[in-house]
Amino acid sequence: MISAIGSRQMEPQLPTDAIDASAKRDSDLVQTLADIELELSRIKGALGLLGVRACSSCKIFFRTSEPAALFHAGEAVCYRCIPDWWASRRPQLDSDLRERIEHRLVHWLVQQHGARVIHHPEKQAESACETRIIASCMECRGTGKHNGGRCPHCYDGNVWVVMKPQ
Ligand SMILES: [Zn+2]
Ligand SMILES: [Zn+2]
Repeated sequence: MISAIGSRQMEPQLPTDAIDASAKRDSDLVQTLADIELELSRIKGALGLLGVRACSSCKIFFRTSEPAALFHAGEAVCYRCIPDWWASRRPQLDSDLRERIEHRLVHWLVQQHGARVIHHPEKQAESACETRIIASCMECRGTGKHNGGRCPHCYDGNVWVVMKPQ
């Protein structure tokens, strides 16, 4: 007897039309999110056609046709974000990959942004507005040794890339 009453109380309390309304709201929301997602992917596709891509760090868009705008290393990084990005990315890479990316990065900074490579940072006072990135010497592959002597292109296997302020 008691169990029969109990089971009757388990039945839904809400009127059927209220449940329908709530289910409809949920499905409307899911549909809206799906629409937004679709719209975003369409916009991303359109931006790609227009030749712009976002920096993976600051998310600002740059023209891909300008080689100086973004450095590509799997992800795209703008000039302003390079120092922080490289400082955190460098220790995560194995030595082969690090060397290859670093090689390209130094080349890109020099070619596209007029960066200077210096071998003796202590001889040149650091100006407050410039940024320096330490890199392995490409001539001796960071060993600091060359033909049994010291490598003339670096200081203990390192060079410093002086980036101009933007
Ligand atoms: Zn950036
Ligand atoms: Zn060297």
